[in-house]
Amino acid sequence: KAQRAYNFNAGPSALPLEVLEKAQKELVDFQGTGMSLMELSHRSPAYEQVHNQAIANLKELMNIPDNYQVLFLQGGASTQFAMVPMNFLPADQKAAYVLTGAWSEKANKEAKMFGDTYVPFTSKETNHNRIPKLDELTFEDNTAYVHITSNNTIFGTEWFEFPDTGDIPLIADMSSDIMSHPVDVSKFAMIYAGAQKNLGPSGVTVAIVRDDLLARANIENVPTMLRYDTHVKNNSLYNTPPTFGIYMLGLVLEWAKEQGGLEAITKRNQEKAALIYDVIDASNGFYRGHAEKDSRSLMNITFRVSNEELEKQFLAEAKAAGFVGLNGHRSVGGCRASTYNAVPYEACKALSEFMIEFQKKNS
Ligand code: PMP
Repeated sequence: KAQRAYNFNAGPSALPLEVLEKAQKELVDFQGTGMSLMELSHRSPAYEQVHNQAIANLKELMNIPDNYQVLFLQGGASTQFAMVPMNFLPADQKAAYVLTGAWSEKANKEAKMFGDTYVPFTSKETNHNRIPKLDELTFEDNTAYVHITSNNTIFGTEWFEFPDTGDIPLIADMSSDIMSHPVDVSKFAMIYAGAQKNLGPSGVTVAIVRDDLLARANIENVPTMLRYDTHVKNNSLYNTPPTFGIYMLGLVLEWAKEQGGLEAITKRNQEKAALIYDVIDASNGFYRGHAEKDSRSLMNITFRVSNEELEKQFLAEAKAAGFVGLNGHRSVGGCRASTYNAVPYEACKALSEFMIEFQKKNS
């Protein structure tokens, strides 16, 4: 059996062992084609089957209604920061950017290159330690769309309730919590996510876009590859898509179905996160969580150790004990455990035990 690390990387991050083993088995001869999937034409029936099955499985798992298009794009979520305003921010309207972390700030900065935005809420003053209460949010008339980041990968906060924006399209960057729990897709005009946390390897970006938003797009001066319309019309096969990444994403979706779908996955994610948050909460301040309790992410658990010397020691000893990826993001420091769908319960259990042991030895 493969020796697997306790992988708490923030992204790219852990993939299910079963998925890797399946890919390994099929690597040099994909389903009797005599070649690897990477060597197949993206116009071949064998590849098209993989492509369309992945779309169908994502629709099924996320319960995506029929009036939405599922797209496989490239350029990461960072390219979506530009594509969204390029397509959906007209000159006579403003877009609302709710700023709950570094990625929402980047999205807003990018949008300002193409039009006007405003900020209905920012958590910057408290170092992005919380998600706004819904009654803290009001939107101006003539808002083209509202943009939120559903999970803040760096600060470790997550939205669990979403604003009702009425007729204003709600657009969410779900890069770091897509498919970690069920969401009512019909509340959103658009959802996008880089694949490299919960969906598969890096190189694929998923966009789920509602038809009425697509119909509003203003694409006169938008380059062909940066129009959603191009990819909708061509079933994400306008040019060569990242075929191997989409294949891997497809395997992850099959795996997610075998796990019992999003209801089962969310239950496990809650149990996994609780293992670690419980240690933080019972530590009498030895460990300090960054996020306010009701904003705590189930995907990225951010915390500090009581003093900097000890924190360094904690990270060094954890590394030596085989835990990978526990350093906080380079912009904020501290510690972060990313517990995405494919991170096993056993890894979280091992980390919680390590944390308890470390506290015992050092307090
Ligand atoms: N949004 C969020 C919430 C993220 O976590 C990340 C990457 N960690 C990005 C956007 C940027 O994604 P990419 O690297 O795919 O451009």
